[in-house]
Amino acid sequence: MSFEISEHSAASEEIVLRGVPASPGIAIGKAVVLKKDGIVVEERSVDDPSLELDRLQKSLERSTYELEKVYNTAFEKIGSDKAKIFEAQLLMISDPIFVDAIKRRIVAERKNAEFVVADEFSRQIEQLRKSDSEIFKLRAFEIEDVRNRIIRNLADAKLKSRFEGTPIVVTSELTPADAVLLSRNAVLGYASDFGGARSHASILSRSLGIPAVVGLKEATKHAHDGMDLILDGYRGVVVMNPTGSTVKKYSERKSWCERLDAELLVEANEPALTTDGRRIFVEANIELLEELPLLKPHGADGVGLFRTETLIINSEAIPDEETQFEIFKKAAEEAYPNPVVYRTFDIGGDKMFVQDHAEANPFLGWRGIRMMLDRPELLKDQFRAILRASAYGKCKIMYPMVATVDEVTRANEIFDEAKRSLDSQKVNYDKKIEVGVMIEIPSAALLSKEIARHVSFLSIGTNDLTQYLLAVDRTNELVANVYEEFHPAVLRTIKYIIDAGHDAGVKVAMCGEMAGNPLATVMLLGMGLDEFSAVSSVLPILKKIIRDTNYKSARKFARQLLKIDSPAEIKKSLNEYLKTRFERIYFTTISEENLD
Ligand code: PEP
Ligand code: MG
Repeated sequence: MSFEISEHSAASEEIVLRGVPASPGIAIGKAVVLKKDGIVVEERSVDDPSLELDRLQKSLERSTYELEKVYNTAFEKIGSDKAKIFEAQLLMISDPIFVDAIKRRIVAERKNAEFVVADEFSRQIEQLRKSDSEIFKLRAFEIEDVRNRIIRNLADAKLKSRFEGTPIVVTSELTPADAVLLSRNAVLGYASDFGGARSHASILSRSLGIPAVVGLKEATKHAHDGMDLILDGYRGVVVMNPTGSTVKKYSERKSWCERLDAELLVEANEPALTTDGRRIFVEANIELLEELPLLKPHGADGVGLFRTETLIINSEAIPDEETQFEIFKKAAEEAYPNPVVYRTFDIGGDKMFVQDHAEANPFLGWRGIRMMLDRPELLKDQFRAILRASAYGKCKIMYPMVATVDEVTRANEIFDEAKRSLDSQKVNYDKKIEVGVMIEIPSAALLSKEIARHVSFLSIGTNDLTQYLLAVDRTNELVANVYEEFHPAVLRTIKYIIDAGHDAGVKVAMCGEMAGNPLATVMLLGMGLDEFSAVSSVLPILKKIIRDTNYKSARKFARQLLKIDSPAEIKKSLNEYLKTRFERIYFTTISEENLD
């Protein structure tokens, strides 16, 4: 995420900002800057607390009215599942315990309503912020949004949500409510200083089909209303004050990107069959039920990874069996007849919180299956929930962060216990349900064949596999240049896992980020990978590449690549390959250059 001034002219120089691509598409238009001045709350003593209670009541009513509007718009545009975030915000406002606590403090402490509201919310927010988990920090952000809404309404201030024309909205933080409410205008795109691709606001932007780039750091510093802007949601780039030639370049790119997207979506539901007849399964990674409606239009052959730990974040606790069952059942029904692979909670690492003490090295600590094996009752509940859902669709189960064969056999024993408990209660489930293991720790990679003997499939998690093979923290920007999925050690390990899985007679999938990188598709296909699982929007591209590739030639190409010992050389070959064979895909997703 850097910032460069590409031309040295004074007042309106072209500025290029780089952030995180959050929703694909290219937008060219004028900026509208949505100012969200920091909320300053003063502590005041009041003589008459009843006046404060009155103000609080009015603010809560106004906030409820606003949130209901957001909820209804979200419901109409993108359906009930996605609108749920706002239901949760509404619940927060109407929670009698929470509201009563605020009221009691106003009366007892004789303080102004803003101060008590801010103080009460801050406790929750601070607790979540302290967590190492990116997702918990996002949750804090949502609670903060509710707090700011109530405080803004106490001050009777209105946020601008109606715009003329077709703007690109630039803001410091895009909240889920912003993403929905602002979409009632003819918004062309969203650009924000903060945020990540996995935030709710980013997911909503993708569902609304509005291109977005987040995490630009300094977008609001440079932007002003009416400024010319280009937003590239494929690569995460925003150009301010573009020159005539930049506008021309992006206008051309925009039209051929749109054509390519439209063409690929038409054929997205064709199977991914290589020219010489090898069938590959291309599936979606999901974190939330809200992503399920994306499966069919993008041609997903099912869900290859459901990161179930996201449920904990959404409910702020480990959901009970019944709650999990309802969610898993919905996913199974929606994906049917295709399968859903439910990964058991991968808590720990950068993802959580449950332990009371901070670990010195959370990525090497109490994480994934290790934690669940220490809490067998939680694992059993989750197994029972998935097993019960399997009566409504095709379900599979997968264990994360496995390092030893013994972990697999112990988890399998708990799985058998869960089955027996359902049998004794005469509860129906799929007796042939498959269990698999994520291979994402080097020791598990070396033991792939032995592990495969105890399960029905393997799925390679390249995000962690790269982290652990290269000893590089996947979240540390200081060593981001060392984090290299195309490192020969990573590629050779992937090949080793695929071969070992096949020797043991099981299918091998990949659900790490590499599976969704078009640069890697032909190489992985040539290594013999059976299934790719990646974010929905990229699936039509992967299918297109697979359908236009000959498996035998891909094998030969992969063999050559595996002999190279420099990541740069490997990537050079892959870039050349994609550029010559899949020029339009290359220029849409990889290259900074225009298609001539
Ligand atoms: C992986 O490690 O590659 C993976 C898919 O799991 P996560 O990113 O959730 O750790
Ligand atoms: Mg992982």
